Amino acid sequence: MLLKDKIAVISGAAGARGIGFATAKTFAAQGARVAILDLDGAGAQKAAAELGPDHIGIACDVTDKADCARAIGEVLKITGRIDILINNAGITQAIKVWDIDPESWDRIQDVNLRGVLYLSQAVMPHMRERKAGAIACMSSVSAQRGGGILGGAHYSAAKAGVLGLAKAMARELGNDGIRVNCVTPGLIQTDINAGKISDESRVKILENIPLNRLGVPQDVANIFLFLASDLSAYVTGAVIDVNGGMLI
Ligand code: NAD
Repeated sequence: MLLKDKIAVISGAAGARGIGFATAKTFAAQGARVAILDLDGAGAQKAAAELGPDHIGIACDVTDKADCARAIGEVLKITGRIDILINNAGITQAIKVWDIDPESWDRIQDVNLRGVLYLSQAVMPHMRERKAGAIACMSSVSAQRGGGILGGAHYSAAKAGVLGLAKAMARELGNDGIRVNCVTPGLIQTDINAGKISDESRVKILENIPLNRLGVPQDVANIFLFLASDLSAYVTGAVIDVNGGMLI
């Protein structure tokens, strides 16, 4: 088992069909005790219960620094330790760049980018003290190709920001034994895009995916597993594409 006796915190893992929950299930199957932090507190508890009796579900708004500190404090009170943080929570909005108003800009930056900073900061004192930790952050192919398939320019900007933030954290935290990496998924079938892809655009999207299928949450969960485990002990500041070859 790759994560035997590890304690893993995963944000945005309340949705049964999401990448976060697939990651939570994968980690639990590999021996980890998982704490799910999500804006949807009841959903987080339900998801944790589905994993088994030892797992934890806690309400947390990643855009609120104090709430991140509170939630991480609660996890530490229960588990005494955090080995892994997966910054997965995120939202998107399919609008054109000329329609982005200050409120939607702020909302998209807050959840996708600021949330990564706040939750990472919340685990940092503990991980630095223990001189160990693995943090993995959710970016997107939208950051690399400029403009999402479904997300707007503000989403691309936030997910590009995650790449810079993760690399900077990797540089500053390496000497404390903490690794920080990123994943950049392509189009993964989850609730975030459910019902938003017409048959026509699906055909067009698949024309640009050499592996000729959309992604599934497990495709990304497997990469988070690699980044969370000792298999990636000498990997930090890396960005791993999970996109079926979309950028070749
Ligand atoms: P999802 O909607 O199932 O998951 C997002 C989760 O984040 C939800 O459980 C939601 O409640 C939670 N969340 C939203 N705002 C929050 C907040 N303020 N605080 C805490 N939790 C909050 O969708 P998903 O597709 O599984 O998305 C997971 C991540 O993957 C997101 O960051 C998304 O941007 C990213 N991503 C998705 C795709 C894709 O094609 N599905 C591609 C690239 C990246």
